[in-house]
Amino acid sequence: MRYPFLDLARTQAAYADELKAAACAVIDSGRFLHGPETEMLEHEVAQLCQVRHCVSVSNGLDALRLILRAYIEMGLLRPGDKIIVPANTYIASVLAVSDNGLVPVLCDIRPDTMNLDSSLLEGLIDPRVRAVMPVHLYGTPCCDATLLDVVNRHDLLMIEDNAQAISAHADCAGINGTSVTGGLGHAAGISFYPTKNLGALGDGGAVVTNDDTLASTVRALANYGSDRRYHNVYCGLNCRLDEIQAAMLRVKLHHFEAENAQRRLVAKAYAQHITHQLVTVPVIFDEMQQVWHQYVVRVAHGQRNALRNYLQQQGIGTDIHYATPPHRQPCYNHLEHGALPVTEQLADEIVSLPIAAPITVDDAREIAHVINDFNPD
Ligand SMILES: *Cc1c(COP(=O)(O)O)cnc(C)c1O
Repeated sequence: MRYPFLDLARTQAAYADELKAAACAVIDSGRFLHGPETEMLEHEVAQLCQVRHCVSVSNGLDALRLILRAYIEMGLLRPGDKIIVPANTYIASVLAVSDNGLVPVLCDIRPDTMNLDSSLLEGLIDPRVRAVMPVHLYGTPCCDATLLDVVNRHDLLMIEDNAQAISAHADCAGINGTSVTGGLGHAAGISFYPTKNLGALGDGGAVVTNDDTLASTVRALANYGSDRRYHNVYCGLNCRLDEIQAAMLRVKLHHFEAENAQRRLVAKAYAQHITHQLVTVPVIFDEMQQVWHQYVVRVAHGQRNALRNYLQQQGIGTDIHYATPPHRQPCYNHLEHGALPVTEQLADEIVSLPIAAPITVDDAREIAHVINDFNPD
């Protein structure tokens, strides 16, 4: 395949030697958990998100689960409370809620941002709604004045699912006064899944927050519930990040902003050159500094799969994020929800084009021209 959708070996080829050296250094150190790499990574990620605390954890789902569990331990949430979650998201956002005995309330999305539609929030509020979880899907920040106003007026917790948009900037400041994703709300979950913009070489994640109590509660919960050695205050879990993954992530951090800049150039090239009448490209929000975890176009008139097959024949890999929204998954058969027309429609129209390195601006122009030559059935 000429342009695979994603080939991680090629994405990281430019610094594979740095990764190998950093892994060897950890092996030689004999320190595999609770070590200096983890500590420095936490410091660096907290800085990136402009917050005081970062607790590294096992993966992004655990980051979100631990935030919600910590709020339950702190008495700020009770099982049965409702959490508003966008209907268009990776299922992990919703799993974190239901796993804690909390009730996901699905909110439809805006067709332009493909993120939670804040104008619908007020209509979903009832006394059991205690939090909202904006997801910065595809690397586009989800935060606006309407969302912040609802959070303030109803005294909600704002928990960001920042699995896909670390280092993106919203065009408004959140509750901490910063506009960077991860620092917009009361707490955020980050994923270091290998395909994410900042990906480990295995599973990894982090919780970031300005809340001292939340940070120490999450840290304890992620370490068997112990606040100090052999002293367990919670019936906790083991959700730690290890030193090798922390070291891999610290190498990746050196290249991360350059990779994001490259993704922005590729997104711009796609937007400039894709002119096929059936294909709608995503809006580029200048001030929001999207980080383009995915570049998701929409294909009208039921031609999505035909376009994908055609591109496949031309040696261009594509993917769908996500073909089946959470509420249509068998595990959420029982989940009550209102009408979700935008989510439903987009699920049948979206296609993700290659955007990660080594895709260049020239590649994007080439791929755009192939798309423009697509003859629908
Ligand atoms: C990847 C992802 C998660 C889960 O992260 P893992 O590290 O895979 O557990 C959660 N939410 C969203 C939006 C994601 O993309």
